[in-house]
Amino acid sequence: MNKYTKTLLQGGARHTILKGMKYTDAHCHIFSAPIDDAIIGQICNATNTADWEELTPIADDRTHICIGIHPWHIDSVPDDWVNRMHKILLSNPQIMIGEIGIDKYHPNMERQVEVFARQIEIAIEFDRPIHLHCVGAWDKVLHIFKSRRPHTPIVAHAFSGNAEIMTGLAEYDTYFSYKIQDNRINNTTTIAPFDKILVESDCNNASHQLEILATTTHEIAKLRGCDTRELNEQINKNFNGVINYA
Ligand SMILES: [Zn+2]
Repeated sequence: MNKYTKTLLQGGARHTILKGMKYTDAHCHIFSAPIDDAIIGQICNATNTADWEELTPIADDRTHICIGIHPWHIDSVPDDWVNRMHKILLSNPQIMIGEIGIDKYHPNMERQVEVFARQIEIAIEFDRPIHLHCVGAWDKVLHIFKSRRPHTPIVAHAFSGNAEIMTGLAEYDTYFSYKIQDNRINNTTTIAPFDKILVESDCNNASHQLEILATTTHEIAKLRGCDTRELNEQINKNFNGVINYA
């Protein structure tokens, strides 16, 4: 246990960080290796072309990289983005596609749909997992999935859908990733398949990463009425299912 973990424990997160437990972060935006040894894996998402080149070199045994055009960055996409994405994917067989998606609170819906669909086609062509952002646009996402039929793992980051959407997504190899925020968590955590649950921090920096992962895991275990360690082990197994897809 390092200094950082001790500070967290003194800070009141004692009940959530269990001794010896190792965590995985299915979705974050951290541009460095994890600072805590308790984090054995993280998936870092680059959301615009400028970040792709910056993030790619930090990949290692614990840090796994995704490159994508996030719907919030749709207006600043350079014309040659597809070529640039192809080039990185060709020389980096482990790099995944993300964070990509559709967000109803952001403008230019037609362009969002077009760029998202193109990235799904690229994920299929290059046989890479997909890291999905969807806010209020599940009908559009499912429509694109229906026509393209992605076969690779899909991580529904910060899953905000309901049971019906979960059923629609279960037609694909979808994982449901959760994060507790303001003491709230999506109520599908209780019905998500055990072998498809993930936890995430969605952090930009590592300072609260471990605390968020531990608290979220603890909360999901409580809601499901299962053992925290058992759930945590399964989450790590699920994480490996995504990163070891090849
Ligand atoms: Zn994100």
